[in-house]
Amino acid sequence: KLHNTILELKGNIRVFCRVRPLLPEDGVGTEPKVISYPTTTEALGRGIDLLQNGQKHSFTFDKVFMPDASQEDVFVEISQLVQSALDGYKVCIFAYGQTGSGKTYTMMMGRPGSPDQKGLIPRSLEQIFRARQALQPQGWKYEMQVSMLEIYNETIRDLLSTNRPSLDMSRSENGVVGKQYTIKHDANGNTHVSDLTIADVCSSREVSFLLDQAAQSRSVGKTQMNEQSSRSHFVFTLRISGYNESTEQQVQGVLNLIDLAGSERLSKSGSTGDRLKETQAINKSLSSLSDVIFALAKKEDHVPFRNSKLTYLLQPCLGGDSKTLMFVNVSPDPSSMGESLCSLRFAARVN
Ligand code: ADP
Ligand code: MG
Repeated sequence: KLHNTILELKGNIRVFCRVRPLLPEDGVGTEPKVISYPTTTEALGRGIDLLQNGQKHSFTFDKVFMPDASQEDVFVEISQLVQSALDGYKVCIFAYGQTGSGKTYTMMMGRPGSPDQKGLIPRSLEQIFRARQALQPQGWKYEMQVSMLEIYNETIRDLLSTNRPSLDMSRSENGVVGKQYTIKHDANGNTHVSDLTIADVCSSREVSFLLDQAAQSRSVGKTQMNEQSSRSHFVFTLRISGYNESTEQQVQGVLNLIDLAGSERLSKSGSTGDRLKETQAINKSLSSLSDVIFALAKKEDHVPFRNSKLTYLLQPCLGGDSKTLMFVNVSPDPSSMGESLCSLRFAARVN
């Protein structure tokens, strides 16, 4: 398939850009259009031009989704990648971009009652559970497990923990949470996070329920900790173990879907205390992620996985024959052009 050919050529790392529509709150009126899409054949569907202070910056990615792209249009382009998790691959799909650029929209549920708006996580799950059904007659049996966590200030928070969030989040002065959530990788490339809740799931509806629970758990943090949800990384993990009774084949795949912390540069001078610590933690983990993907793409001997919690957690799913897709989400709002340019440059580096 074409899709897999591209993956092989590119060393299993791809970058998709998605520009969200202008929203009423963007406050544009007479502002000129700052984002455009080149129509030359080689850049068709892959190019994006950004105009800033009269200067044009051009980028090319594996795919560019314009504001009118629907959730379904986006999903169609990743469905094979999702499918490969059932074939035993380790897959990571990231959403990168400033706060308000559409990362969560791309990944999560739309508003209840609007199925068109469903994002990549629910669509992926529906596909996986449908495929599982379809593979049954061939003797395949699958077990699925889900975990959901948040990485905030380089500490992990379990979003499926039944402990009261306020207890779980109690922080000592040096910002260490009660539980340590130590990350370990075993020889088979499986990751174990101590104390992390792992839920066995049998249907996409069950996972939806858990996603709601996680969202609730995140929003509790939001009020208590200054919009924590945009300042933390959300990591959704589905582990898939398949066994074929007739052929005795075994597969173990992992699908990670990650809604990254907002990439906006907060002014360092103005921030102090907790805010400064947050900013430093986000900068550190996002630049570590870029360093890791860059090193993997260049096939460097040393890949600096250990420089952040996020890259260390995902280590087995980023290297080897695993598959990585990065969405760079961009806002078309003229007042966001500085941040959009930064995001596109970040993505161009890992592309
Ligand atoms: P982020 O998670 O990057 O902070 P959000 O996903 O919350 O950004 O998006 C910000 C706002 O833009 C939300 O109101 C969301 O519904 C809207 N939005 C984002 N992407 C789209 C899209 N492709 N189509 C329509 N609305 C979108
Ligand atoms: Mg968000």
